Amino acid sequence: MTSNTLPRLLRGAQGRPLTLAQHEETFAFAARRASMLEELDASGLRGRGGASFPTARKARLLRDQRNHSKFVVVNAMEGEPASHKDRTLLSTNPHLVLDGAEYLASIIGAKNIAVCVARDNPAVVNHVERAIHERARRSLRGPALELHTPPWRYVAGEESALVHWLDDNKSLPQYRTKRPHILKIGHSPVLVDNAETCAHVGLIGRYGADWFRGLGTDESPGSALVSVTGAVRRPTVLEVALGTPLRKVLEASGADTDPQAVLLGGYGGRWLDAAHLDAPYANEALAPQGVSIGAGIIVVLPRGACGIAESQRMVKWMANESARQCGPCAFGLPAIAEDLYQLASNSRDPRGAHQRLVERCAVIEGRGACAHPDGVVRMVRSALEVFAGDVASHLGGVPCAGSSSVQHFASVPTLERAEELVWE
Ligand code: SF4
Repeated sequence: MTSNTLPRLLRGAQGRPLTLAQHEETFAFAARRASMLEELDASGLRGRGGASFPTARKARLLRDQRNHSKFVVVNAMEGEPASHKDRTLLSTNPHLVLDGAEYLASIIGAKNIAVCVARDNPAVVNHVERAIHERARRSLRGPALELHTPPWRYVAGEESALVHWLDDNKSLPQYRTKRPHILKIGHSPVLVDNAETCAHVGLIGRYGADWFRGLGTDESPGSALVSVTGAVRRPTVLEVALGTPLRKVLEASGADTDPQAVLLGGYGGRWLDAAHLDAPYANEALAPQGVSIGAGIIVVLPRGACGIAESQRMVKWMANESARQCGPCAFGLPAIAEDLYQLASNSRDPRGAHQRLVERCAVIEGRGACAHPDGVVRMVRSALEVFAGDVASHLGGVPCAGSSSVQHFASVPTLERAEELVWE
């Protein structure tokens, strides 16, 4: 594959994972150019797990660690309930993800690769297990590939929690004073990259940085997988070129193209008013609205629904997912959920609830060992802003149309479907 059209990551999708032989046929090698790290640097690839950190910079940091036993960890935990992209990718092209992990291992000098998939996802666990066995039969050289299956939780996919689990069987985030921070299994430095990020690395290893930059924008090159849920015919995963107008992404996924708002970046992301739907789907274009693409999640909220009631439901869910090792998170998130409930349900004191909400967000922000409570605060603040009309109705004691029958538009997807959107 050297043509520069979509799909890239989901090429060859046939309802079951490509075998190693099919994979080699589908993704034939092109001539290699500079060193892999130079190619990665030139590609401008940024992580697709949520933080959008430059992949080459992270790899360089690990390469420079003087230690002979390093690890690459492929994070396919997919803790966001509205995300479906990593399992779709691993159910289509698991070898592309493993190729990328092997390239990263060669860059940093790692002898071990740990692929982490939530055990609650047995179909994907089987796909990865089979792919690892196929590779083991092919060659005994190269880094050792191992599958790990931690239990699924929202915070279990947070990279420090994942490394903690690999090190000590505990899915608890680790407090980090400065970033970037080198995570370790025992004394071994660890490079953690999301499964989709690894798949892009696999493609860059085969076709180079120029090819990778053939799609996307200058600042956000390449394609990305997007999970679309909410007001959509059925939850969908698409591959889009970064920079595609958001409305086009909704159209291609079968979603409501005239919604009230969309939530970008998942339950810890931000609501975006529908007035901005013609913005390109790329971090630099969305930054003025305080939004980023995060881990590629779009939740579509139809007109008539109450954004405050929907946000309350998500905060309640997030409060239950707290690892409960930090007070502001363990006690603060349920309190925020309660305030939102009081506000949305037209209680006797909506103004008091609103006031407490604003104060609590300020107190909780930045006080957790991980970014879990900050994500909730970010989402709640954006809800108060974007759904200011609903807030005003609730404050005035007027029930808004959507809150009387709280509809669960941000529902967890139950169907898997890989589709491709060609947008050039
Ligand atoms: S902030 Fe919350 S989720 Fe993160 S470590 Fe503390 S208690 Fe756990």
